[in-house]
Amino acid sequence: MSTPGSARRVAASALFVLALLLSGCAAAQASAPAPTSTVEPPVSAPAQLVGSDAPLLAAPLAPQAVTSAPPALAQPATPTSGAVSSPTALPPTPDPLASPTAIPTPSPRPAGTPPRVGLQVGHLNSQDLPEELARLRTSTGARWGGVTEAELNLDIANRVKPLLEAHGVVVDILPATVPPAYDADAFIAIHADGSQSGAARGWKLATPWRTSQASRALLEAVAAAYGPATGLPQDTGGVTVNMRGYYAFNYRRHTHAIARTTPAIIVEMGFMTSAADRGVLFGQPDRVARGIAEGVLAYLRQRDPNNGAALLPPEFSTLVAGPGGATLRTAPRDDARTVANLDPEARLFPFERRDGWYQVFVRGGARLQGWVREDQVVVTNEQPSFPTASANP
Ligand SMILES: [Zn+2]
Repeated sequence: MSTPGSARRVAASALFVLALLLSGCAAAQASAPAPTSTVEPPVSAPAQLVGSDAPLLAAPLAPQAVTSAPPALAQPATPTSGAVSSPTALPPTPDPLASPTAIPTPSPRPAGTPPRVGLQVGHLNSQDLPEELARLRTSTGARWGGVTEAELNLDIANRVKPLLEAHGVVVDILPATVPPAYDADAFIAIHADGSQSGAARGWKLATPWRTSQASRALLEAVAAAYGPATGLPQDTGGVTVNMRGYYAFNYRRHTHAIARTTPAIIVEMGFMTSAADRGVLFGQPDRVARGIAEGVLAYLRQRDPNNGAALLPPEFSTLVAGPGGATLRTAPRDDARTVANLDPEARLFPFERRDGWYQVFVRGGARLQGWVREDQVVVTNEQPSFPTASANP
């Protein structure tokens, strides 16, 4: 699905270079050019891209104080094949309280830049995943009857695209392989569920482990639109580790992943194995598409395109349980239910921090999550790495 875009690619590159020249941009990496690898937006609808829809366009900007040197976090520009890489090194952050502002915020897009949204079709062409994701090549997702999940996901993505384009959004339809450090104003991974039982139903959304304000706002906007648009129930509590740890979110580990600053969610639209859900997913797909599109548009309208800090996910150091162990609870409160009592030295991946508590993923086999009190854990110098999905959701 990749060939037709070369003219546009050249144009986009030229525009990007021009924009850099004009803006004297000091943070080229942060506003990296559009994806250059396998995927370009299908040209089927050349479209009135730079639409008249002013509210969605980037606001004019004061040249922002770019803190200092180029981001130390720049992703490799080219795929590194082979090797299940160790996580891309971040500078050690011995202090878990270190503010993310130590990292230069991304520079805003030049004024008038139309918003760009990536719609990733879950499992599409998964056999073409690069070496670093070879384990997911056979992960073809759910199916019902003769319909694969990728076919359903593609159908919905193709319906969302024109709804966004009608509001001046540039849309990339992306397969399972995400262009390296994919940089956009929103990234939506589109998936559908399957279950053995047939009774499971409903939709759910998740952000990456470490969630920027922007990703959270994107999730909330799509959640607010999707339920009413589709009439489908929410699969409350159904969010899995495989969703939070979605490979395309994992910019630390994978070259073929979103940029660190791309707001992102994964959408599980409903269960292909549920007759009730199929009534909407298969029978009324435009409602599904409308739910996603309205949510994305609401997010784009309400965000402040000049707020680069909102795009930065929080950073934490790796933790271990203290000498007395730690209690993992369901909520950041001493009276919340105990999930597990953790042994001293248990390795913890923190992804949120609130009121003296960390929300953590417990390394090791059990894939537990919960909250631990700060005074029960010890900061380590170990390089943080994201817990990875064991399968493609
Ligand atoms: Zn899937």
